[in-house]
Amino acid sequence: MAKRVILITGASSGMGYAATHLFAKHGWEVYAGARRVEKIPTGSRIHPLRLDVTDAASRRQFVKDALGDGLRVDVLLNNAGYGEYGPIEEVSLDKVHKQLETNLVGASELTKLVLPQMRQQRSGRIINNSSIGGDVYSPLGGWYYVTKRGLNVWSDVLDTEIRQFGLRSIIIEPGGTQSSWLDIAMDNAIHNLKPDSPYTPLAEGTRKLLSGMLKTTEASAEDLAKVFYQAATERHPKRRYYFGLTDRMLA
Ligand code: NDP
Repeated sequence: MAKRVILITGASSGMGYAATHLFAKHGWEVYAGARRVEKIPTGSRIHPLRLDVTDAASRRQFVKDALGDGLRVDVLLNNAGYGEYGPIEEVSLDKVHKQLETNLVGASELTKLVLPQMRQQRSGRIINNSSIGGDVYSPLGGWYYVTKRGLNVWSDVLDTEIRQFGLRSIIIEPGGTQSSWLDIAMDNAIHNLKPDSPYTPLAEGTRKLLSGMLKTTEASAEDLAKVFYQAATERHPKRRYYFGLTDRMLA
């Protein structure tokens, strides 16, 4: 059987890190990208590559390095992302742009780079790690939810466009999952407050509520890696996979 190949973004931590291990363990060639390349797992089938998904040259180089080996590409796992939490009135425009570039535009631009090869193969899957935030919302997560809801719509539309070529675009919606994500998002929620912000009590309350809720419903990054693997290998994949809290609330 031909070697199966996956490109994974955000492979230096959390779910991307766990997925890199899991796919390599199952014999896949894994092209694993992140800015902190030194934190990407190592192993005989793992190819760690420096990648900033917000940078066009870096995205091109990542895909060139992976496809340059003359292999096929079976899956692109768009996983890199973070939460720029904070009140809508106080999160700066450059932070809004950066988060959109990371969570949505980067995924779309990488996808455009692999689709020609996938169309030629007449097989391939784009797996997009969204969030429970793609369907529900709370204060402070406004622009994060926009990126994830946008990713859901983008993926659904793409799926209708590429099925004719034997390709699929799939959404994964995790609930709370053990990783650096929560701490980064909740730190941002406080750092984005202006001095003497009228949103401080709301921010502190929401931070406690979300931290408590997500921590009590946490899945492990390894659990999510298994869901990615299911989406990559199931004969008839679903358009969306819900896991953890999302599974109980939305599926
Ligand atoms: P982590 O913070 O542990 O991992 C995030 C990964 O994204 C890191 O490897 C980081 O690598 C990478 N990343 C961030 N920005 C960039 C960039 N510009 N270019 C390349 N890589 C980047 O969090 P998770 O594993 O939890 O997050 C994975 C995905 O899951 C995210 O999209 C997140 O929004 C989503 N999610 C998380 C949930 C949770 O509760 N943990 C719940 C629902 C969804 P580096 O910094 O080295 O570049």
